[in-house]
Order: sequence, then structure tokens, then C-alpha cells
Amino acid sequence: QKAEWAKLVNEPTTTADGQHVELAANIGTPQDVQGVLENGGEGVGLYRTEFLYMGRDQLPTEEEQFSAYKEVLEKMEGKPVVIRTLDIGGDKELPYLDLPKEMNPFLGFRAVRLCLEQQEMFRTQLRALLRASSYGNLKIMFPMIATLPEFRAAKQVLLEEKAKLEAENITVSDSIEIGIMVEIPSTAVLADRFAKEVDFFSIGTNDLIQYTMAADRMNERVSYLYQPYNPSILRLVSMVIKAAHKEGKWVGMCGEMAGDPIAIPILLGLGLDEFSMSATSILPARTQLSKISKAHVAQHMDTILNMDTAEEVVAFVKQNF
Ligand code: PEP
Ligand code: MG
Repeated sequence: QKAEWAKLVNEPTTTADGQHVELAANIGTPQDVQGVLENGGEGVGLYRTEFLYMGRDQLPTEEEQFSAYKEVLEKMEGKPVVIRTLDIGGDKELPYLDLPKEMNPFLGFRAVRLCLEQQEMFRTQLRALLRASSYGNLKIMFPMIATLPEFRAAKQVLLEEKAKLEAENITVSDSIEIGIMVEIPSTAVLADRFAKEVDFFSIGTNDLIQYTMAADRMNERVSYLYQPYNPSILRLVSMVIKAAHKEGKWVGMCGEMAGDPIAIPILLGLGLDEFSMSATSILPARTQLSKISKAHVAQHMDTILNMDTAEEVVAFVKQNF
């Protein structure tokens, strides 16, 4: 099997009927890039920047962040790199920020909510990203967006920092795409509105499933409700992809679901453009996709979206794809 996978390391990802999708990787540090390239990753679909902020007692400086982002962009040699702004909160805490304890941290003051209030911290990260942008193909993504005004506000701060840097004669790329994570149901439902303003979506199924099913992703007792194949989740994914394509925007997925062999044929059929997963899943996924016809799976999407339960979906996929 390994030999079969290895043959595809330097190949584009092509389905049995000649359709292309992009297989990218999720990373947490610049050191992870080597594994992405060794496994034939066509890009970085999610760089979780939280690790720069964690396991220390103060915020990382602009210089520290700049050098980390630049390193990733350079090593990826012009391949797309989606860097997500700070997504702290929920299960990821930063003790030195001294934030009050919350009853429901997953529903609390986190990610872009925190960044929009603690703007000094946010602006430092954005400056580091903008300065690094001239070293590769950078796309910037905001996490935990729940409303359009949040996206507009975050984009505004980004554009302000860009203007400041340009006034200082610092080179900033002019082709940075600005997108959002779709991981809150409100945003998935309103995807048609968001699609007019963002450059891309990346669906964060880890959180989208937990918020849609109201089942804590860390809680074993309710893990039976954490259902990636629940038709409700698949309908949301489908809505997001349709809304984006209508506006000519692309859609990725960076939750665990993107690398799941049961989910892959469905996501292909729904029209997902980019699948971002752990580096070691890329070659198995490319091999699997090379054997699936997109036209064939697409034909069955109405049937799947009209099923009652996750179990029915899984049984159908195993039997037909
Ligand atoms: C997600 O929510 O699906 C995601 C990719 O982000 P994280 O796992 O970092 O919350
Ligand atoms: Mg998330």
C-alpha cells in the first residue's frame, strides 16, 4: 500500500474522471512543513498559530511571528499557505492574558472575539503576517466568525495595518486572499451573504459539528452525538459550497472530516475544492480520490442529503462508493 501511495507524491490530485482537487495539510509549527512536502501536500490549508502563543509567559513579539510565518511561506515555495489568526479560548488557554474563568469557554470570549477587543495583540499578529506575505502565497483566515460585522471589523483592522506598513515603505503582497473559518452554524446558514465579501471559506468541522449537534467535542459521554455524517452537517457543508461557488469563491475544509475516507467521496460529490488534513493522510486520500469518479458520486448527493440518519449515510457510502 505504501508503495502505491508513494507513486503519487509528486502528482496532482486527480479523480478517476479527471477532476482536480487540492490536498493540503494542517500544521502547528514551521517544523511541520517538512512532513507536508514529504507527503506531497499541495499547500498548507491551516496553520494554527496558537502554538506560537502557548507554553510561554508572554505574547510572542512581531519579529518572532514574522520569522515563523516567513519560514513557512518560504519553505512552501509559492504553494498556497492559509494562516489562521489567533484562535485562543475553548480548550486552548493563555494564562498570561489573565482572562476571567467562564462557565462555557467554548461559547465564550475567544478567537476573533478576543482579538477584536485586544487589538494591540491582534494588530501585532496582522503586521507580522503582512510583512511575511511577500515571501510566498499567503492567505489569511479569521477563526470563529459568527456574524458579518465581525468579519468586516477584522478585515478593516487588517487593511489599516496594511496601509500603515505601505506608508512605511514595507513591501506587502497585493494578492493576499482574506477568508474565514466556517465553524459556527450561523455563518454556514448565512454563507450566501458571506460569500459576497470573503475570498474563500474553510469549513472547520471539528467545531461546526460540536456547535450544530450541541455536543462538546471533548466530552466522551456525548460523543455518540458528535456525528460528522449526520445529514444536518452534510446539508450545511453543501449550502456553504453552493453559496461560495455561486460567487466564484473556493471552499476548503480543515476539520478532521476532510481526511476521513468515509467523508471524502461525499465531500468530493458536494464540490469541495480543497481538503486540508494531517500530512500523513494526504497520500492515502490522493490514492482514494484517484479511484473515485466525481460525476458518479455527485449523482448520489440528493439521496444522501435526504437521508434521516448518519448510520444510513455511512451504509450508503460503504455500499456505493
Ligand atoms: C475546526 O474547528 O474544525 C478546526 C479546524 O479548528 P480547531 O480544531 O483548531 O478548532
Ligand atoms: Mg475550530
